[in-house]
Amino acid sequence: LKDYVVGLDIGGTKLAAGLFDLNLKEISFIKCDTEAFRGGQVVVENCKAIVHQVLEKSGISRDRVASIGISSPGPLDTHTGIVTYVETIGWKNVPIRSIMEEEFNVSVVLENDANAAALAENVRGAGEGTKNMIYITVSTGVGSGIILEKKLYRGSHDAAGEFGHICIVPGGRPCGCGNRGCLQSYASGTALANAARAGITAGENSAILLKAGGIPEKIHAFQVEEAAKENDAFAIKLWEEMGYHLGLGISILVQLFDPDRIVIGGGMSRAWDLFYGSMMESVRSNTYEVLSENLQVVPALLGDKAGVFGAATLGIAIV
Ligand SMILES: [Zn+2]
Repeated sequence: LKDYVVGLDIGGTKLAAGLFDLNLKEISFIKCDTEAFRGGQVVVENCKAIVHQVLEKSGISRDRVASIGISSPGPLDTHTGIVTYVETIGWKNVPIRSIMEEEFNVSVVLENDANAAALAENVRGAGEGTKNMIYITVSTGVGSGIILEKKLYRGSHDAAGEFGHICIVPGGRPCGCGNRGCLQSYASGTALANAARAGITAGENSAILLKAGGIPEKIHAFQVEEAAKENDAFAIKLWEEMGYHLGLGISILVQLFDPDRIVIGGGMSRAWDLFYGSMMESVRSNTYEVLSENLQVVPALLGDKAGVFGAATLGIAIV
């Protein structure tokens, strides 16, 4: 009897794996360091090891595993099961699907992390019960996963949902992708820290600098969050600007897809109250009322378990 699946979540700093039954009930769960600094091959070995470990921890025999779902950073190809290029974990054209199929002798499915998290939030999280839902992750970068009619929409090249690289400021700030004015250059952890650094270097008086030990280079988004929560005017303004820009991007999604609900996850979403107001103001002023008045924009529920849940959901789908 094959009545269990494994969900594996590959992240830049942590790997997580969970064993689930076919009703998506969690049997066991573990996390470990990705150890990306030791090179791509070690990351591959760690992926195998954590799946072995989660099975051992559960006490369930390997023959009862029907499939493995994998959530990985992209770009990747879901058809070939190859992760194309991920600098943070040292992977270039890594055929992770066939590697895991050989190791465990089961079917394996590969999906990008934002899509896996979108699916997880739709099945079990903050998007449960919705038909058309968009999941947005805001952390160092910005990504999204689009669920239409309860199904993941991948696009023609597995590249749908590259929300972070929608141009919201023509000719604006340069982005790592080579273009200018991308959303994630205005509404991500990296963008927030950069804006704080630039302002302070230009003479803004703010508690952020003190929190970074007086060294502008050490300014990080969480110090901007701390300062804003202590009523620092400059920090509050930075979060409002982030909300405004994120709202601009969301208004494009709303006009285009008319979703029931938008779910926002990623590290930055934890500072919800600091950007929600300006974000919604920007959504409302840039969309038709019929679209925005019933739109729900809510924080994600699954946190760092979303990847594992989403991967397991995909694993169940191929059983
Ligand atoms: Zn870009």
